[in-house]
Amino acid sequence: MLADRINEIGFSPTLRINAKAIAMQAEGIDVIDLSVGEPDFPTPLNIKDAGKKAIEENRTKYTANYGIPQLKHAIIKRLKNDHNLIYEPDEIIVSTGGKNCLFNAAQAIFNDGEECIIPAPFWVSNPQFVKLARGVPVIIPTREEDGFKLTPKDLSRAINSNTKALWINNPSNPTGSVYSREELEVLAEIAVDEGLIIIADEIYEKLVYDGFRFFSIPSLGEKIKRQTILVNGVSKSYAMTGWRIGYAAAPKEIIAAMNKVQSHSTSNACTISQWASVEAFSGPQNEINKMISEFQRRRDYMYYRIIQIPKVSCYKSQGAFYLFPNFSAYYDMAYEGNLIRNSHGLAYYLLKHAKVALVPGDAFGSDKFIRFSYANSMENIEKAMDRIDEALAKLSPVKKVVSKPLNNTVTKQKSFVEVEPNISLEMRDALMAESEAFMTFEGYYEWNVNISGIILQLRSNSPHLYDFWLENFYPAQLETDLEPHAVIYAVNWITGREPRAFYNSESRTMFFFKSALYPQLRSLALGMVADITERLYDLHSIRTQSVDIDAKGLLLIGPPGTGKMDQFAELLKQPNVKLHSNDLVLVRYIANEAIADTAERKLAFNTNFVEKYPQMVPLFDKSKCENVITSKDECDNEKCKREDNCRLDRGAPYCFSASKKSIAMLDPYWLAGSDKHVKRTSVKWIILFRKDPISPTIQKLNPEDALKILEDGRSQSSLGAMQSVPFFNPHLLIKSMDRIDLQKRYFKKLLNIAPCYIINSAMESSDKIKERIAAIVEGNEEAALQ
Ligand code: PMP
Repeated sequence: MLADRINEIGFSPTLRINAKAIAMQAEGIDVIDLSVGEPDFPTPLNIKDAGKKAIEENRTKYTANYGIPQLKHAIIKRLKNDHNLIYEPDEIIVSTGGKNCLFNAAQAIFNDGEECIIPAPFWVSNPQFVKLARGVPVIIPTREEDGFKLTPKDLSRAINSNTKALWINNPSNPTGSVYSREELEVLAEIAVDEGLIIIADEIYEKLVYDGFRFFSIPSLGEKIKRQTILVNGVSKSYAMTGWRIGYAAAPKEIIAAMNKVQSHSTSNACTISQWASVEAFSGPQNEINKMISEFQRRRDYMYYRIIQIPKVSCYKSQGAFYLFPNFSAYYDMAYEGNLIRNSHGLAYYLLKHAKVALVPGDAFGSDKFIRFSYANSMENIEKAMDRIDEALAKLSPVKKVVSKPLNNTVTKQKSFVEVEPNISLEMRDALMAESEAFMTFEGYYEWNVNISGIILQLRSNSPHLYDFWLENFYPAQLETDLEPHAVIYAVNWITGREPRAFYNSESRTMFFFKSALYPQLRSLALGMVADITERLYDLHSIRTQSVDIDAKGLLLIGPPGTGKMDQFAELLKQPNVKLHSNDLVLVRYIANEAIADTAERKLAFNTNFVEKYPQMVPLFDKSKCENVITSKDECDNEKCKREDNCRLDRGAPYCFSASKKSIAMLDPYWLAGSDKHVKRTSVKWIILFRKDPISPTIQKLNPEDALKILEDGRSQSSLGAMQSVPFFNPHLLIKSMDRIDLQKRYFKKLLNIAPCYIINSAMESSDKIKERIAAIVEGNEEAALQ
């Protein structure tokens, strides 16, 4: 429905923090707002009176698009007085705020694909103005040690034949830095030589401290003036942000072009505000000096407090009303186990724990920094700085987690967390309220999937889990009134929560806290599906490796370590065998058939399966993976390291076997399309696997015995202890008597349809077992059981 260029433009992240701060204030929480971008002083009285007078004198109609002549003259006079700049009336346009001038300027000058150099940190809207005009913003980072000012060297380097303009915001929002005359001259010289237009946003012009003399770029010489679009206004200098008056001064053909854009959008700026602005520019200017002296006092205090904070550096800037300290030493610190990772994380932390609203530097293209505004009272600034000190002291360093994005691969080490499958409804309500409250803002993901007719909704703040979820399951229709059958909250970073999962079967709600392990989220989802389908839809879920042989299904069931995967791989090597599922199938019993379906788009495989089935190597290399080892430093396989034959050294994206927990989400159709994969098969044989020193090599089981073995689900753990996983199905969430009975009823049906054999892999070689399975499939039971 929307234009592509709109989708390319993000919502201002500044506004999100702001929204959160406002919501907290609305709840009665005393939040101190240091995120403000406007003077906290009232508009001076003489200006307000001029506005009132305009209303009383009925100056309330349209004006010429580019503004009333009286205001243009007042601007011309101001520019002459302040900067010795001479402009003619047709070189001036008045618009609805400086922002509107900047938007019009960009519309007026950029052709498709022309580049505009924007030094970072930049004011949030600048790149967007360029993008909306179909130009290309070229962001050039500046350095803290250079006072965040663009150097001539960096400018020259960024220029190419496609460069049309240079954007200079001086004094700068967010850094507060101001260019000296000499610094501007060098940049202007380059712009003149290269024929660049300069968009000079000088909206904070009056707000400079320490006796610093501000120079307006076009005042540097006639040549640069002919290439400059100067933008200014009344918002900041006269505390008039709400009046919405800005102006641009530029060569008349540019002004005429901006006027065209304006004539088809806003027409003229507010008439009353224009009259008030005449007074602002022409009346007494002493209110500005009062404002400057108060801002300077606050800046000095705030700067002094910031540099006392351990590990923080801060450039003492001389303009606007912002300081832009470097807080990057606090990223990778944690509060009660919750990692702060970037400027957003720290700004959120300070909002929640210090109750101070600040703007993360990332919003301005520089994530190491946080913007502090001193357009707030001294009393509030003092209180805010105390609270920030206190909150920062609660952070503690954590061991760095290596998280390396590799194509679609996330390599953070993760493991399963404990599940409480029977929580009460009251507990569910409490956890739901907690999750909803925690996830109301930033980074909230919701997605409905359809797993064999069950609509399951994920609500999460983990982009990683969401990403895998989207990849792995078939999407449900996107209809707003679609009621999911079940909901999973996967919530990270809740302070004080243990990594744990909780399930309430009655309301079909799952909570998965503080774990980003996708295989477990998937397992919980499949467990919920089993819980629902078995009760409501007569669909039986079975944990199995399954293949299809000439349209007949063979299920391999058993615990790990019993040779089951060897046989699975051997079967897949045969040309007439198709992969069906590697984990879970959903079976419907119709007449005398057991129709088994796979439930997912992708099949989860342990990556070390390639040791048994090397055909998967290139497929796994392009699969979405989790928990994989991407560097030798992370590998603890000493034997492999000694052999000096590491595939990582040969440029492979990761090692399949180094991590025992790595999972690849394989698209089964990659094997060879539908020649090698089916989603549905009709089950004809079941083979159970075990490994012990006493049982016979192979037996055909009657249904009762098979059921007993399945129900017991006994196996030896890797530590030697006996353990029981009913039906060898780790995804089953509910193991109450009635649910076990339900599984038994289903398996009974299956065992009456398909014969069941049990093989003890301790008794013979894998090859011999392979032959027996081949005999079963060929219908030669006698040979199989010999
Ligand atoms: N430029 C910069 C750098 C700003 O910070 C702002 C206001 N936040 C503006 C332009 C626009 O000001 P206005 O539209 O209120 O005149």
